[in-house]
Amino acid sequence: MTNYQFKLDAIINKIKDIGAENIGLQFPEGLKIHATQLASEIETKTGATVLISGDPCWGACDLSDREMEGLVDLLVHFGHTPLPIEYKVPTLFIEASYQLESMQILNESLMFLEGKEKIGLVTTTQHLHLLDDAANFLEENGKQVIMKEGSGTRKGQVLGCNFSSVQNLPVDAFLYLGSGNFHPLGIKLSTQKPVIIADPYLNQVRNIDEFADRILRIRFARITRAKEAQKFGILLSSKVGQSRWELAKSLKKMIHKGGKEAYLILLDEINPPSLMPFMDLDAFIVTACPRIAIDDSEMYEKPLLTPHELEIVLGVREWEDYKMDEIKY
Ligand code: SF4
Repeated sequence: MTNYQFKLDAIINKIKDIGAENIGLQFPEGLKIHATQLASEIETKTGATVLISGDPCWGACDLSDREMEGLVDLLVHFGHTPLPIEYKVPTLFIEASYQLESMQILNESLMFLEGKEKIGLVTTTQHLHLLDDAANFLEENGKQVIMKEGSGTRKGQVLGCNFSSVQNLPVDAFLYLGSGNFHPLGIKLSTQKPVIIADPYLNQVRNIDEFADRILRIRFARITRAKEAQKFGILLSSKVGQSRWELAKSLKKMIHKGGKEAYLILLDEINPPSLMPFMDLDAFIVTACPRIAIDDSEMYEKPLLTPHELEIVLGVREWEDYKMDEIKY
């Protein structure tokens, strides 16, 4: 028994509707444990053959459509909403909404929102269905809730690299409904506004400030170290949803203009072993997923920077103008 809604009936109907015989399933890391159970149910109920993607997946930017092209008639992708990019095989997106047992946490968040009238309510795919009830609750308690759609995201939805739904919102603070610091950190760095986390999993309300300050101190240290660098590697992703070729080439020009060397490196997965052969380079700029440089930085020996951080290194941008790197779809 799980609290996730995998919408098995909708999947089976789709398979029967299009007469699909081979079905691909792809899950983000946290949902992979449900893969074999769902595969078994789909095979039993439709007679189709199921192929599970075993590769890591963190977003709809990284679909296994290219790997599965020619193998499956339908790819079912769980846990994310589609991005405005062209997928190579017909794809059914299942949000895998999470059913919370209680929304008591919202009550506790009121104390953290004291003195703040206009609230931006934000969450991720798994909790989008809770936003209307949460907004009603806040409004019944005297708050004004403001939400908008983003570019490629739904009302109140953020991705780790897309905060367009919270930018330029005239609010006093954001209330993030969900778990972890990953998305709240992005909201904070992207908007500079107060961000309160209502975490129903830990049953805890907290402020992102201390965590965001720690990350910014690390970013400052990486940028300072990269100012000594003479040779840069610019990492380009081969994943369609993370590929920013024009940006990578413009960064190479910017580095040359600053009198330094730059090399473009194409990678599918960016991790410490994949950079080992390039230890003659002094620092790396990530044009792939913007969160690799920010969230995984401590795993790497050499500084990993976002494109905006490179601008600070080269004196094109001031540290006071620190900007979150985002992918515009
Ligand atoms: S690029 Fe990174 S943050 Fe954006 S959707 Fe993909 S994995 Fe998530």
